[in-house]
Amino acid sequence: MSQKKPANKGQKPSPAKLLKWYDRFRRVLPWRALPDETPDPYHVWLSEIMLQQTTVAAVGPYFRRFIERWPTLQALAAAELDEVFRMWAGLGYYRRARGLHACAQLLVAEQGGTFPRSEEELRKLPGLGPYTAAAVMAIAFDRRANVVDGNVERVMARLYAVQTPLPKAKADLRTLAEQLLPKARFGDYAQALMDLGATICTPRSPKCEACPWASACLARAQNCQQELPRREAKKAKPVRRAMAFVAFNERGAVFLRQRPETGLLASMIEVPSTPWEEKPLPPWPKARTKAPFSGRWRLLSGLVHHTFTHFDLELSVAIASLSKPALRAGQPKGKWVPVSKLKDQALPSVMRKILRHAQKQRQEGD
Ligand code: SF4
Repeated sequence: MSQKKPANKGQKPSPAKLLKWYDRFRRVLPWRALPDETPDPYHVWLSEIMLQQTTVAAVGPYFRRFIERWPTLQALAAAELDEVFRMWAGLGYYRRARGLHACAQLLVAEQGGTFPRSEEELRKLPGLGPYTAAAVMAIAFDRRANVVDGNVERVMARLYAVQTPLPKAKADLRTLAEQLLPKARFGDYAQALMDLGATICTPRSPKCEACPWASACLARAQNCQQELPRREAKKAKPVRRAMAFVAFNERGAVFLRQRPETGLLASMIEVPSTPWEEKPLPPWPKARTKAPFSGRWRLLSGLVHHTFTHFDLELSVAIASLSKPALRAGQPKGKWVPVSKLKDQALPSVMRKILRHAQKQRQEGD
């Protein structure tokens, strides 16, 4: 690992100092146990799944609604997946909702509704990667676990002035975090690091003057904290394209269908579309032949854009108002949903964007 010469030789970051800071400044979060309470593993696990790729502010209301609707793991296991999807709508990355439900069912069916108490066993559960397993281990059970996410990587990179860029530096940053673990209070320590990264050692403008580790921080001593962690230049994401078809029946309901059970947005409700591919779309009259119904399809102006983790999606949208005879001629598998009920559907954000685009231009054009 490439490090500049320590400017504050002899100083070592002290876990005890961080814990002392945490005792004073800890954040109050809906899923976090108070100092005199025992953490509820269900709350810890649920919040950690929700917090994957999502901010604390966005997760708060979802967490409260989930706990109110399904106060226990058993209640969540007994829920319909479709309702879980509906309650999840807006949080994105729906695979997490599916994993959440599958995990609750598995734990209830095979583990008596309790979480295993080893990181290795936790990692075998649906939706629990190394980070989440470590977080549950530390926070729910106060066991020694190295809980390293992007926030912790940033703190470590600064604390030790690691100049190697991410993602190459990941393993080294993990080792540094591991070496700093305290001998007790593992749950508090993991949460203290999270709080430090979220409130003090923030990506931009870290508040070093309020940091409990300021005197031991090499990046601060070298005045390079704003530059760390370094990152390798990101490759541009590929662009996939498709044509989405929004069909309205004579009562103004929209045709929706279920996506395949595997792959991206598995089993979610969708607007029919052509496959999402990197090649250009065929010219409009030809693309019309891919529509789920024959009818007078109209290509809308503009495009719908959506970003997924590994690609950007660019959608052209066509709409049609279909009469009864046209519908009788071909009825693909799916359902007709009145526009007023669309909000109750477990629709991924990209599908909501398509429907908004279609409804707006339908109102303007009809
Ligand atoms: S002193 Fe500043 S850069 Fe260093 S760990 Fe603390 S907040 Fe981060």
